[in-house]
Amino acid sequence: MKKFCPALLFLLCMLFFSACSTVPYTGRAQFLIISTAEENKMGDQAWQEIKKKERLSKKRKYTLAVNRVGRSISAVSDRPDFKWEFKTFESKTANAFCLPGGKVAIYTGIFEYISNDAELAAVMAHEVGHAIARHGGERVSQGMFQQGGATAVSMVAGAKYKEMALMAYGVGSNVAVMLPYSRTHEYEADHIGIMLMAKAGYDPRYAISFWKKFSKASTTNSLTEYFSTHPMGANRVTKLKELLPKAMQLYDKAKNKKGPGTKY
Ligand SMILES: [Zn+2]
Repeated sequence: MKKFCPALLFLLCMLFFSACSTVPYTGRAQFLIISTAEENKMGDQAWQEIKKKERLSKKRKYTLAVNRVGRSISAVSDRPDFKWEFKTFESKTANAFCLPGGKVAIYTGIFEYISNDAELAAVMAHEVGHAIARHGGERVSQGMFQQGGATAVSMVAGAKYKEMALMAYGVGSNVAVMLPYSRTHEYEADHIGIMLMAKAGYDPRYAISFWKKFSKASTTNSLTEYFSTHPMGANRVTKLKELLPKAMQLYDKAKNKKGPGTKY
């Protein structure tokens, strides 16, 4: 039998634990190879590409709402290292995302399912939830781990870097393959999202009304690109209802209660 090397075991343990972190709000342990700084850099690069490609919306009603709600959500998200930006892109497609580093995009198509600031807050807080839970970084880490260290280094250094970041964050209609978020990540973003919107002073019951409307649309509307990156769990609304009492506690404590907020 081969002799066991305690030093090697120690090193492996160190590597593993240094790569583990805990998701805020849910407490789930996650495996991350890349640092927040690397992740934010990836987000930034992807964001520059997207801004070149997409058309900014001129509909003031929507751009003002995205800024207003975005500022409220970011203020309670506890990420002072993020350089927040909120953009509204003109598109028939219902889509939304938040890149690491706090770059949030809303596509005007999603307003078809949104009737007030609180429902917009549900969408934006869900996306911010993916970012602060570092789901993109987790997917990049999983990809790197599967492909092995050497490939990972060349990927980080090379042109594949940006492409991979875009895929990992579920962004970009110019990308052939978009990785869908897993159900675990979806429920986690819902969990964080409903708490964040409540902390920001939006009535968390509007998260349920939004997802109900939106889930129904998934069977009738083919323009919701969102569904390809955000798979719908049948239990989504049930799970949100379970979280509602806790979210209501946060809402009750919120300094600046807005209820449904501005109606559109
Ligand atoms: Zn999602």
